[in-house]
Amino acid sequence: MSMPSDFAHQRFEARFSDGRTASSTDVFVELTERGIAIVRKASEAPQIWPYGALTTSEPLTRHAIDALVTSSHQPGATLFVPGPKFARSLAQCAPHLTASAERWRSARPWLWATVALIAVAIGIWMVEFSPARTMAMMLPDEARKTMGRQVVNAMGQGHATCNEAEGRAVLDTLTAKLSKAANITNGFNVVVIDRDLINAFATPGENIVLTRGLIESAKGPDEIAGVLAHEMGHGIERHPETGLIRAIGLTAAAELLTGGGGTLSSVGVTLLQFSYSRDAEGQADDHALRILRESKISAQGLAGFFARMSKIEGLKESDLGNLLSTHPITKERLAKALQQKAYESEPALNDADWRALKAICGTN
Ligand SMILES: [Zn+2]
Repeated sequence: MSMPSDFAHQRFEARFSDGRTASSTDVFVELTERGIAIVRKASEAPQIWPYGALTTSEPLTRHAIDALVTSSHQPGATLFVPGPKFARSLAQCAPHLTASAERWRSARPWLWATVALIAVAIGIWMVEFSPARTMAMMLPDEARKTMGRQVVNAMGQGHATCNEAEGRAVLDTLTAKLSKAANITNGFNVVVIDRDLINAFATPGENIVLTRGLIESAKGPDEIAGVLAHEMGHGIERHPETGLIRAIGLTAAAELLTGGGGTLSSVGVTLLQFSYSRDAEGQADDHALRILRESKISAQGLAGFFARMSKIEGLKESDLGNLLSTHPITKERLAKALQQKAYESEPALNDADWRALKAICGTN
């Protein structure tokens, strides 16, 4: 270590206590290449406290008027050096004792958490090449719920949500039944927005958005159940979270992971612009078929709805916001749903409940 020349070999008066006896003694200290040299008597060899082993009672600032120093090499012993000059000089020899070093240290748990998460994400990325999905799986529930609320709000912007009491109760009962079959403990939350679009979206945090257009276009309750089960499949696979992280970027997602908030408020992303991959659709369908079977609801509703959607005049994949653009329907998907072996099933809703659900927006 190079010594700042203006104080090399300068002696400071100090009080030293070895921590074993009650009294303290007057000593001289010097800042040397090896550490603080503590000189008790001129005849004794100085005792050296290496800089790296030092701690101070308070971080050394430019305004420090004294320094109370301890050393891990001599537990219990303390060295008190009055005057601002020693404190300033010590700060130069042992920068880890300064206030800025202290700030850095207090930031450490957060930094380590971030570094660890990024390392894990990179590690898995190298195996799976899907950091967005990895992060999505690691997001705390609270962050997912926050993301979900923001997305639902963004999608409902300028449109009413539909909450006619009877229809709402019917929808909640059906959602709870499907959630239970999906093994989602706290259940999904379904919001109906008053839009003409025919679409359904899973959003982060086990939220699902249905449009009035979709409910009106359905030929029966089994179709709604099928669509809900499919969206639950996306939710279970964390597809919405993954999609959002891809959209907002990994850095913003890392902030969410480490509890930093507010990032999403500046992101005008909505799931309207998403288009799920063929693989993602396949996964969601697999979950849907399982959930429907568990719920004793026929898969023919789902198959029928998809078949009809893909044939509706004027409802093309290019229509941004409609079901075909977000959940591309392929021949394979249709075939898989249609080819489900029949099992014991009952209608998802009775006639009265189905009418109530259709009137959830109060328009009919
Ligand atoms: Zn889908």
